[in-house]
Amino acid sequence: MYPSRFRYEAPRSLAEAISLLHEGGGEAKVLAGGQSLVPLMKLRFATPELLVDINNIGGLDYHREDADGTLRIGALCRHADLERSALLPGGKQPTMAAAAPLIADPIVRNRGTLVGSLCHADPQGDWASVMVALGGSVVAQGPAAGGPSRWRTSSPGRSRTCWTPTRSPSRPWSRRTGAPRGAAT
Ligand SMILES: Cc1cc2nc3c(=O)[nH]c(=O)nc-3n(C[C@H](O)[C@H](O)[C@H](O)COP(=O)(O)OP(=O)(O)OC[C@H]3O[C@@H](n4cnc5c(N)ncnc54)[C@H](O)[C@@H]3O)c2cc1C
Repeated sequence: MYPSRFRYEAPRSLAEAISLLHEGGGEAKVLAGGQSLVPLMKLRFATPELLVDINNIGGLDYHREDADGTLRIGALCRHADLERSALLPGGKQPTMAAAAPLIADPIVRNRGTLVGSLCHADPQGDWASVMVALGGSVVAQGPAAGGPSRWRTSSPGRSRTCWTPTRSPSRPWSRRTGAPRGAAT
């Protein structure tokens, strides 16, 4: 089956992407790795009128550790980046290091993103469970964005998140130990 017709935009800045999502309202969707969204579109379970492809936006593919041990992960950090990461093994993030290679297969891991997995909010998704276990938080950006919100409260149910087109997550983060404090945006 083919997807229904949609408008495709590939902005080069986060501000442009947020503006497009605002313009599209409830009919706009972010395209990250496409590993969950595209299959749903092909089956017409998802029929967005506007796709905002964030893959041309520079600087979202990072993952890094802050001085206080906070691990920050950008919206375009792929599963494979985490699988190969030198930051996760060695006892620093053993849960994440264990989860990354278990996700699907190398093709999916090369495209799919941790943030996309959280936004998709499939209860079977591995990263959502990891974020709950580690007390991770998500930082959203947009006109209505606030500070980091705990992942546990960001997904009120199956395939649902509290984010809106004007408040898209740009990165989740998890602390090595203890409860999350704040995160710069
Ligand atoms: C064959 C196959 C096997 C799989 N097996 C597993 C598995 O074993 N374990 C597992 O956990 N997952 C599995 N997945 C899912 C995979 O991990 C996906 O990569 C992931 O669920 C979604 O990430 P993505 O970047 O591809 O998101 P996309 O498909 O691009 O997007 C998914 C959803 O999130 C939204 N979204 C994405 N990024 C953002 C953002 N920054 N802001 C706002 N909204 C956003 C999109 O609009 C869409 O609604 C599998 C997928 C396939 C195709």
